[in-house]
Amino acid sequence: MLVKLLKVLRWLRLLKTDFVVVEQEVFPDEGSVSRGDLVVVRSGEVSKWACMRCPGGCGKQISLSLNPARRPRWGVSIDYWLRPTLAPSIHQKNECGCHFLLQNGKVRWCKDGRPKGQANSPAKTGARQRT
Ligand SMILES: [Zn+2]
Repeated sequence: MLVKLLKVLRWLRLLKTDFVVVEQEVFPDEGSVSRGDLVVVRSGEVSKWACMRCPGGCGKQISLSLNPARRPRWGVSIDYWLRPTLAPSIHQKNECGCHFLLQNGKVRWCKDGRPKGQANSPAKTGARQRT
């Protein structure tokens, strides 16, 4: 299995990526998505959902609609190494509040988007988040 090989490579740190795509046909149960997996739910040729664990402190499952008929929707592209790129950015509205891009499998934090628990700095005042 290519995915297994990729996981070994990632474990060996030969492949620098935070997320690898795993495709399946059924929507994953809450909490069943492993850290570092981006589960793309497909039905035939149609991609429906992209599910991941929040890379911020909360670790909650994030489900992004890929359905072009729904809003909001995200686009996902997958490279040769199964590294996902998602657009637009992902902005968690919960207490975690993280805001990030996923590009070539790597998490890129947006300005003020890194979870406060990881930033070890007092919350800034006057910083308004754009949506
Ligand atoms: Zn979070």
